[in-house]
Amino acid sequence: MFSKKLRQRSCIACRGLDNRTDLIRTVLVGNEIKVDLNHRMPGRGAWLHSKCFLVAVERKAFNRSFNYEGQIKVKELEDYLKNLSN
Ligand SMILES: [Zn+2]
Repeated sequence: MFSKKLRQRSCIACRGLDNRTDLIRTVLVGNEIKVDLNHRMPGRGAWLHSKCFLVAVERKAFNRSFNYEGQIKVKELEDYLKNLSN
């Protein structure tokens, strides 16, 4: 039986469903967002489109997604995205 369950995730910022290959998986380690390029890091992941990064930050989508109330550092993700667009 062919499974229609595609490996899709919804973006934490825009809530849009997309293929995992079109989203970036991030995990929270301590209070820092880490980019999980190989989708292998343990723990809860938050997925987002690269273009949705600023929206995610503005809406505190990482806090919501990880159920974390403190300040979350997004520098690693920010730098990763900067490199992508260069
Ligand atoms: Zn999005």
